[in-house]
Amino acid sequence: MQNNQSQQRPSGFNCPVCQGFIPVSIQLILSTERFVCPQCFLEIKLNRGESKKALDALEKVKDAEDGVKKASVFRR
Ligand SMILES: [Zn+2]
Repeated sequence: MQNNQSQQRPSGFNCPVCQGFIPVSIQLILSTERFVCPQCFLEIKLNRGESKKALDALEKVKDAEDGVKKASVFRR
């Protein structure tokens, strides 16, 4: 099995507290409302509207995963 990790960036964002990388996939964003930093265990809740900073960070994840989104079909 081949893994093209050099082409595929890990999606996620940096923790606002420890700056550690929090891996987050689009699927996770869509299916959960909170993430935990693996390094400082900060809990980041996705209160849409309230957590503007977190959502901004997630926008970058969306950009990174744009190709994946195009290839995937999400039903509303
Ligand atoms: Zn952290």
